[in-house]
Amino acid sequence: MLDDAEISRILVIAAHPDDVDFGAAGTIARWTDAGIDVSYCIVTNGDAGGSDLSVSRADMVAIRQGEQTTAAKQVGVTDLHFLGYPDGLVEPTIGLRRDLARVIRLLRPDRVVCQSPERNYVRMGVSHPDHRAVGSAALDAVYPDARNPFAFPELLAQERLEPWTVREVWISGSPAPTEYVDITETFPRKVAALRSHVSQIRDPDGLEAMLRERVARTAAQAGLPEGRLAEAFQVLQAG
Ligand SMILES: [Zn+2]
Repeated sequence: MLDDAEISRILVIAAHPDDVDFGAAGTIARWTDAGIDVSYCIVTNGDAGGSDLSVSRADMVAIRQGEQTTAAKQVGVTDLHFLGYPDGLVEPTIGLRRDLARVIRLLRPDRVVCQSPERNYVRMGVSHPDHRAVGSAALDAVYPDARNPFAFPELLAQERLEPWTVREVWISGSPAPTEYVDITETFPRKVAALRSHVSQIRDPDGLEAMLRERVARTAAQAGLPEGRLAEAFQVLQAG
């Protein structure tokens, strides 16, 4: 696994506004504190989110982009790319692979964080079909699309985007995590990030306790002492 000192830029690819914050905000705060540039690429516009039937879907798109932008600031991230795919309908298409390869070539990250294409049979919510589709397309974009000059040749010929080799991938929501990050110190910023998704929170009073319970369970899985909090990833060498 690469030392964070070898990493200058990280790209986080996620299906929906708020996925990044549930899966990785505590870890991302640690990375930005260490001086690493982190960017987000959010694939869908989030228009199937929330439970308020009086909010138009067009309004919901703008609301959720604003919420994700506010959430990102809580953990030191200001560079966000929204691809605008319809929420709930994502498939791991060639077109999505090209769109993700474009963002990878544009930003040239050393490490990519994405969701798991595998179904997690322990926690149903992490395996939303959009998460699995985006995870699958993101891994394909890392290898081979972004690095192969003959994959989507128009990216190079028309957009002047040189091939780029990502060195490492961290998969969030994996059924087989290999790396646990202690987020005890950054947990308040993870909570603040998640509180930013106002349109998605049904129980604001219970949010912090729900999150704490979840990351405490992850820390216990990692064998960390009582009272510590953690996020989990499956890390794979990519280049
Ligand atoms: Zn999601």
